[in-house]
Amino acid sequence: MIDRAVEYARQRRQFGRPIAEFEMIRDKVARMMADTYAAESMVYLTTGLAERGDVDYSIESALCKIFSSENAWRVVNHAVQIAGGNGFIKEYPYERFLRDCRINMIFEGTNEILRVFVSLAGVQMLGEELKKVGRALRDPIAEIGVLSDFALKKIRQAITDEQFPDIDPLLKKTAVRAAHYAEALSTTAERALREHGKEIIEREFVQERLAEAAGDLYALIACLSRANTRIRDQGAGKAKRDILLTRTFGNAAWRRIRRRLSQVEKNQDANLAQVSDLAYEQGGFGENLIA
Ligand SMILES: Cc1cc2nc3c(=O)[nH]c(=O)nc-3n(C[C@H](O)[C@H](O)[C@H](O)COP(=O)(O)OP(=O)(O)OC[C@H]3O[C@@H](n4cnc5c(N)ncnc54)[C@H](O)[C@@H]3O)c2cc1C
Repeated sequence: MIDRAVEYARQRRQFGRPIAEFEMIRDKVARMMADTYAAESMVYLTTGLAERGDVDYSIESALCKIFSSENAWRVVNHAVQIAGGNGFIKEYPYERFLRDCRINMIFEGTNEILRVFVSLAGVQMLGEELKKVGRALRDPIAEIGVLSDFALKKIRQAITDEQFPDIDPLLKKTAVRAAHYAEALSTTAERALREHGKEIIEREFVQERLAEAAGDLYALIACLSRANTRIRDQGAGKAKRDILLTRTFGNAAWRRIRRRLSQVEKNQDANLAQVSDLAYEQGGFGENLIA
């Protein structure tokens, strides 16, 4: 899809020049590139974990499915927009891709259920792996450190994997951000658990945000790992594309993570719950201004 979108943008002319030159088109192309690089990297990293055979990669797999299916949807959506009216008609492949892509967010585990899984599975895995976690769940305040240790362990496992021994200075700034937000995710999850206790199972507003932050973080770690390995093996010159895409993805990702984590504490969840109650009571939108 990216190849087709780029080809179309370069050949389609409006206002006397190819639409590829307009910044709103550049923005779409750049996002498609950076996010697809991230999706590819996290799948690659996860297949590496699967091949090791000694780690549970179920959370990572779920993160790959959520991120990649939603990225595919965004990419096709951008491609349709770049193709303009042609994007909508059957003579071009876009509309078919758009429809086909939509199912990926539904089957093989809907993305909502996978977000619930990602948020709660860490806690559950802890229960299986560490006896202490049972106590943490019963008394989250006393045992809170256990849960944060778990989150940090998982992230450390990804960061200190042999593919990622030392971070190159060219990626340092992005890596420092990733480490900072890894810690912030763990602290926020801890706080949420302290606040909601076992009721966290019912708090899907919170679960969704934690899962999204975890997805962006894992994607970022995967990009860093890939770019770092390329620099180490082939030198910075050959790794130019990796460095650029990692930095670009990283800049967008850490901002999303920051926003998601701050929304765990400051949000309008109560309003959203009220509005959905209203819709359920009224059986839909209710009053129509234009009948
Ligand atoms: C054409 C077609 C082909 C299919 N092929 C396959 C296949 O090859 N492999 C396969 O695995 N499956 C396949 N499926 C089934 C598919 O996996 C299911 O449709 C999917 O798992 C969703 O289940 P459901 O349709 O019963 O949705 P429901 O379970 O009814 O869910 C409806 C909506 O509610 C949301 N929801 C449900 N529970 C919660 C919750 N606790 N919190 C938040 N949101 C929630 C869901 O995420 C979804 O958005 C196929 C389905 C179709 C229609």
